[in-house]
Amino acid sequence: MINSVIVKYPETGRHCWERSGFPLMWYFIGESDPDGHSSVRILPLGVPTIASSGGKVISNMRYLLCIIATLSSLNICTGFENDTSISKQKKQDTGSSSLQIDIANQQLIDLSHTFDKQTIYWPTENGFRLIPEKAEITEKGYYYSSNRFMAAEHGGTHVDAPVHFNEHGKSVDQLPLQQLVGEAAVIDVTAACRQDPDYQISVADLRAWEETTGRQLVDVVVLLRTGYAQHWPDRKKYLGTDQLGPEAVAELHFPGLDPEAARWLTEHRAIKAIGLDTASIDFGQSTRFQSHVILFKHEIPAFENVADMSRLPISGTTIIALPMKIEGGSGGPLRIVAWLPKKDNRQSSRQNK
Ligand SMILES: [Zn+2]
Repeated sequence: MINSVIVKYPETGRHCWERSGFPLMWYFIGESDPDGHSSVRILPLGVPTIASSGGKVISNMRYLLCIIATLSSLNICTGFENDTSISKQKKQDTGSSSLQIDIANQQLIDLSHTFDKQTIYWPTENGFRLIPEKAEITEKGYYYSSNRFMAAEHGGTHVDAPVHFNEHGKSVDQLPLQQLVGEAAVIDVTAACRQDPDYQISVADLRAWEETTGRQLVDVVVLLRTGYAQHWPDRKKYLGTDQLGPEAVAELHFPGLDPEAARWLTEHRAIKAIGLDTASIDFGQSTRFQSHVILFKHEIPAFENVADMSRLPISGTTIIALPMKIEGGSGGPLRIVAWLPKKDNRQSSRQNK
C-alpha cells in the first residue's frame, strides 16, 4: 500500500529531500512537480534509513505534517467508521486517502493547558506534581536535567476513555487513532453559558450548527465552546468553587452536555469524539454522569479542559488529539492541537453567534 500527501511549499524546485530515519519509521520520498509543488510518497512498510540530503534536521512543522499524513493514510482503525450507513456514505464521498495541506497559509493552535502547579483537577484529586531530580552541569561538562511527575489521569487537558464509565469500554491505549484526528465541528454556546453556569448544551444547539453549515454532525470531532477556558486557572470561576475534598463536589457549577443531546448524537449521528472547555462532559451539578455513560457506551471518547477555542472557525479545522498511551488507562493527559484552514474557507464562529 502506498499513500501520498501533496505538500505545497513556498519555495520551488526542491528535489529528493527527506529519506529519513526519524522515530515514526516511515519511508519518505520527496520530489517536485512542474508547478513547483513538492510531493511526498510514504511507504508505511519502509525501513528507517539515514537522511541523505545533507542530514538536515526535520522541522517541527514538517514532522507534524508527516504524522498527519501517516495517520490519514493508515487504515488500521476501521471499526468506528463501519458503525453507520451515514459514515459509510461519507467515506465513499471522500474517496481518496490523500490529504491537501498548504503549509504557507495554515497555522496550528494549541488547545492544551500547560501542566503546572495551577492545573485544575477534580476537587477530590491531588494536583499535578513535577519533582525535580537533576539540573546541573555534569563532571563531563555537559548539561543534564530530568524530573519526575505525578498526576491523576483526569485533570488538566485530558481524554476520558470509554472504560471510565463503561466496564467493557476501550482504555486510553486502545483508542483508535481515526477517532482522535478529524475535522472539528465547533458548537459555540458562550452566550448561553455566560447567562447560566449550569447550562446544558442541547440538541437544538447541535442542530443550529447543522443549519448554519448545511451539514450533519458525521465523521467529525465535536467541540463544545462554552467560553469557560477564559477562567483558567481560577478554580472559583472555572469550577464554581475553590474548595477541595468530597464536600466540594456538590458546589461545582459549570456547563456540560445535556444527556438528551448525548443520546441524540449517539443514536442519530456518527461523531468521532467530543470535547469541551470545562472540567467534565456532564455539567457541574450532575450526580449520575449520564452523558459520560451514554457516550462511553457507544465508545465515543471525551476531551475535557480543552483550552481557548475562540480562534477556531465553526468548521474546517483539523483536530489532532493525542493522549498519553497508558495501558489500561481510563484517561490521560492530552495534547490537542487545531490545524486551521485557509482564511477564505472559514465560517467564523463570531459571525454566526
Ligand atoms: Zn475525565
